[in-house]
Amino acid sequence: MTKPFKVLIIGGGGREHALAWKCAQSPRVSEVLVAPGNAGTATEPRVRNVAIDAGRIDALADLAEREGVQLTIVGPEAPLVAGIVDVFQARGLPCFGPHKAPAQLEGSKAFTKEFLFRHGIPTAGYRKFTRADFDRDWLAAQRAPIVVKASGLAAGKGVIIAQSAAEAVAAAEDMLGGRFGEAGHEVVIEEFLEGEEASFIVMCDGRHAVPMASSQDHKRLRDGDEGPNTGGMGAYSPAPVVTPAVHARIMDEVIHPTLRGLAADGMPFTGFLYAGLMIDATGAPRVIEYNVRFGDPETQPVLARLRSDLTVLCEAALARRLDQVQAEWDTRAALGVVIAAGGYPDEPRKGDVVRGLDRAAALPGKLFHAGTALKDGQVVTSGGRVFCAVGLGETVLAAQQQAYALVDVVDFDGAQARRDIGHRAIARERRG
Ligand code: AMP
Repeated sequence: MTKPFKVLIIGGGGREHALAWKCAQSPRVSEVLVAPGNAGTATEPRVRNVAIDAGRIDALADLAEREGVQLTIVGPEAPLVAGIVDVFQARGLPCFGPHKAPAQLEGSKAFTKEFLFRHGIPTAGYRKFTRADFDRDWLAAQRAPIVVKASGLAAGKGVIIAQSAAEAVAAAEDMLGGRFGEAGHEVVIEEFLEGEEASFIVMCDGRHAVPMASSQDHKRLRDGDEGPNTGGMGAYSPAPVVTPAVHARIMDEVIHPTLRGLAADGMPFTGFLYAGLMIDATGAPRVIEYNVRFGDPETQPVLARLRSDLTVLCEAALARRLDQVQAEWDTRAALGVVIAAGGYPDEPRKGDVVRGLDRAAALPGKLFHAGTALKDGQVVTSGGRVFCAVGLGETVLAAQQQAYALVDVVDFDGAQARRDIGHRAIARERRG
């Protein structure tokens, strides 16, 4: 038995609360530091917040060194794309996440499309444009629906599914005109894929992959999957669309070719790799996007089901021996519902006092914090997505009921939550 050690989680959202909560349960861990964390991580047993933002890479490396941290896990994409893993590695600090080069899979949609085509990995057909070479006439002649994407990081919001060619042209001109700043400097126009979406997340060590439990998120703001795209309004695990046969196809046709392709391109991938997939009626997977980190809110229900010690899995990945370990899962379903601030996603309100946290703590399930802060001893809202309430159950329906029981006791001015998270999976359960 090794001496208990400290873990550092970088980030301050719901995903990071779930990562910290999970690591703090490990008997191998003495303390979990979270930088900067939120009001949830501030009150979690064996967890301590440190007020350093996720973008301050050198300050974070200094912290890890000073505290003798033996494992750092990076939550959000921005520090990964900025090269935090390279900096930590150069200073001899174990840090679980991809290096800067493969992190471009999330940083640039244009890079990703080229990568997918180069390695024959299934995805939607596309063209990319900058302002200089934008072909308005070509786009105006395409059949709707047409998918228009800002190439760079736009927090999951830089995607428009245009219902007419005119709308697609307007969206592309808007992005090229600077609506998303640098992220829209280049736009990708994509063929619209039909099917059911699924998130497939794996832990990678450069060569091998250990699949996390399957999951599915809901990106749209309103019930019935209507309204604007958001960072995610809820998620559940498992995703019934990922049957054992589909699982095998995803590993063979997407995950292994991706890891081989990245290694062949000289940038082997270590970290959480998230493939956003469209599964068609025949069970064929196609890649919509990659993320180079665990999803938010998928992390919350997926980690609620993880039986294995996450720190053991991360260490095995850093030692390139993921082929020697397995992840074990609770057979129950988990479902997370995001409670967002009023005005989200455009202009979320901040500073509203949260009520009902004591009642929530007494209920089954787990209320993960996201955009919360402590102010004068009270929990107040501080971001767009404020909580993710996770329930567990023998069925997705039972997990949903437990999650909504939590949602119903938490309250703050302007709070908004969807009432139908998991509806596709529950409809499948009903159909038997
Ligand atoms: P992305 O940021 O690329 O994941 O896109 C956000 C959401 O837009 C996805 O989760 C899908 O729901 C939708 N989407 C993106 N690309 C496509 C596509 N080619 N066909 C259909 N839906 C898409």
